[in-house]
Amino acid sequence: MAHSTNMRTDVLIIGGGGAGIAAGIEALDAGAQVLVLEKLAEPGGAAITSGGGCLIVGTPLQEKAGIKDTPDLAFDDWMKWGGPSADEVWARLYIEHSLHDLYHWAEQNGVTWVDLKGQEGNSVMRWTRAADSGHGLMTNLIASFKAKGGQLLTETSVSSINREGDRVTGVTAVTRSGGVSTQLEISAQVVVMATGGFNSNIDMVLEARPELRSGRVLEGSGFGANGDGHKLVRSLGGYLTHMDHIWFYAYCTPDYRDQTGRRGLAFRLAPGNIWVNQQGRRFHNESLSGGNSGSPALMAQEPRHAWAVTDRPMLANITISDPYYHVGDKVDRAKIEELLENSPFIHKANTLEELAEMMEVDKAAFLDTIARYNDAFAKGLKTEPEFGKPLGASKPFDTPPYYTIQIFPLARKNFGGVKTDMRCRVLDKHFEPIQGLYAAGELAGMAGGHINGKAGLEGTMLGPSLFSGRVAGGWAAHEAGHGAGFVGKPNRG
Ligand SMILES: Cc1cc2nc3c(=O)[nH]c(=O)nc-3n(C[C@H](O)[C@H](O)[C@H](O)COP(=O)(O)OP(=O)(O)OC[C@H]3O[C@@H](n4cnc5c(N)ncnc54)[C@H](O)[C@@H]3O)c2cc1C
Repeated sequence: MAHSTNMRTDVLIIGGGGAGIAAGIEALDAGAQVLVLEKLAEPGGAAITSGGGCLIVGTPLQEKAGIKDTPDLAFDDWMKWGGPSADEVWARLYIEHSLHDLYHWAEQNGVTWVDLKGQEGNSVMRWTRAADSGHGLMTNLIASFKAKGGQLLTETSVSSINREGDRVTGVTAVTRSGGVSTQLEISAQVVVMATGGFNSNIDMVLEARPELRSGRVLEGSGFGANGDGHKLVRSLGGYLTHMDHIWFYAYCTPDYRDQTGRRGLAFRLAPGNIWVNQQGRRFHNESLSGGNSGSPALMAQEPRHAWAVTDRPMLANITISDPYYHVGDKVDRAKIEELLENSPFIHKANTLEELAEMMEVDKAAFLDTIARYNDAFAKGLKTEPEFGKPLGASKPFDTPPYYTIQIFPLARKNFGGVKTDMRCRVLDKHFEPIQGLYAAGELAGMAGGHINGKAGLEGTMLGPSLFSGRVAGGWAAHEAGHGAGFVGKPNRG
């Protein structure tokens, strides 16, 4: 390690993902000097690989589509879906501010919002996607951050947070450049932590959910979401809350290219695929595949996995939400074919009998399952009778080769984390702020500690992470002597 270097700044932000960059923009707008430290080679975090969808209420896009939405309606949906452990105060704050302080704010920073999508639990469409998804969203926000004079150091990992007396005074970090590591001692008036979640650290997932140790669970967040921030906050006496609130996805298969065997890949847009358990039986309406429907159904199977069965035409539009399977925002079909051919967790066969043998499921049960499913099409039914799956986007199994993809639960998003107050100040076990320390984004369960509760309406991770980043950045700059703190503009129409 090369000698240590000293630096100083007003607002120091740990993590250059959604929350960190939003915090940086806000603090710069308040007039503070800002330095963001990012441990990976590129900034963007999970946010840059995300679907780029945010739950936003009362938007011009909704108006154009003839959708009438109000903060009250969204709040009701949110609380019904997330249950009693959703933080009502943060949820209300986010929902009311999402129009001006996320939608229009992002536009002012170069982002274009392009379309809406329906998501489970919402009574109207409000999942609002940025052009070029997470990639487009974050590329524009990072460019805006830099244009406003923000400093960003990549390949720089924070290893400790320093304190004098009760006050946080800066951090110790290691930065790598040209194969040389240098220790940095950085002093700051305030530190904002925005290190993301811990779902790319399966040990922490299983610590929070010990009952899942009995079967396979896949890691599935951004590559930097290893729980570093949770450990740092814990070492300072910060309070971690709702750590067991983890949002799992079901349509996920192990990433066979990952040497550790821990990471998973989520796939989408294989309409018509059905899920069959190791007993060779369907167990769920596969059109409800979300974290509050498909995931609990999968996790109730014994053993805790299933097989997503398709024929060849059903795979025509399959996508994999991982950067390796994309060029920018475009799907790389050749790489998807490579996965279908090479993954030991995916089998291909010319007959259903052969497929059953490869899956090692009960062959008679499996063939009966497919026959009964196909029969619903033969009868011209709109919905299959067993689990109520609408058949409009589906087809019978009739065009070999047939495929089966082994699916396991994948830990995607953390709905719990560091407890903060409404200014995003990190709280200790007495619920008093740790002086000079802020937390935002997924580290803080997206905002405040547990804004979603047990289930999210989707778009309720990225949106609140960006928003809480802004709140943290505004108040951090204020504490450093710049600006009036985050105010924003609620929409109470
Ligand atoms: C594939 C995928 C798709 C998603 N799609 C959506 C979606 O469409 N809508 C939605 O609402 N949510 C979505 N999410 C979730 C959403 O992207 C995250 O919740 C959000 O990005 C969290 O923002 P963040 O800034 O807290 O964390 P991140 O964006 O992950 O950023 C954290 C950053 O901190 C860095 N870091 C960590 N530790 C250190 C350290 N010690 N020192 C320095 N830097 C560090 C990390 O490398 C990372 O860059 C998706 C997630 C994934 C994985």
